[in-house]
This record gives sequence, C-alpha cells and structure tokens, in this order.
Amino acid sequence: MSIVAPEIIVRLTEEQARAGGPGSGYAVDPGYLNVFGTIGCVLLLTPAGEVLVDHHDEEGIVEATPDEREFAHVRAASGHPELRGLMPSRPADAVDCPLCHGAGSVPLPNGHRVFCGAEQCNSRGWVPPHS
Ligand SMILES: [Zn+2]
Repeated sequence: MSIVAPEIIVRLTEEQARAGGPGSGYAVDPGYLNVFGTIGCVLLLTPAGEVLVDHHDEEGIVEATPDEREFAHVRAASGHPELRGLMPSRPADAVDCPLCHGAGSVPLPNGHRVFCGAEQCNSRGWVPPHS
C-alpha cells in the first residue's frame, strides 16, 4: 500500500464537511472522511490513512478488520482520484475477478453499477491466482 499525504485526506474531509449531505457528519466531527456507508456500517478514513468503522451499535467507532480496511481503501481510491495511492497493489500472479472481470464493480439492471461483492475480490477487481 502506498501512502497518501495526510493533507490530501484532510482537504477531502473538509470538502465533504462543507458539502453536507448524508453521512457527512463524520467529516464535521470527529473529522473523518466517509468513504463508504450502508444501513449497518460506515467506513471512515482518518487523516493518517487508518480505517475506522461505525456499525451503529453500542461500541461506537472502532478499528476496521483487515477486509474492511482494504475495502475502504479501494472505495476511497475509486471515489477520489487523489487517493489512488491507497489502492492495494495487484500481485503479478493475480487474475481478474471472475465476477466483475477486473472492474471491481458489476452492472445493475437499472444501469447503475455496484461494488463487486465476491469475497476474494473485495471490490479490487482481481483475486489471488488459486482462489
Ligand atoms: Zn470482483
């Protein structure tokens, strides 16, 4: 994983806070960039590039699991070109995901795309060679 300058994450977080909208409250306070959210989970990027998760339960905001962390980095890199450095590097022997064919997302009948949910892909678009 490459490193992204904290200033870039801070700037994006400030922009998200100013823009408002669903899920932007994390950018206002405590100052984390919301990179992915569903009903049950919000993935947050700290200025240091760490990933925290809010499952909307009594635990509050906690450290992400390795899978959540990677997924958040891929979502961040997909949503913000400045954060491409967070994208996990593809091993030379990796192969395109059989479900999303390397795109990291799959088309929906309505024409929109949704992230690839294949477990081994984790929305990267590639999978280990023998998975
Ligand atoms: Zn895939």
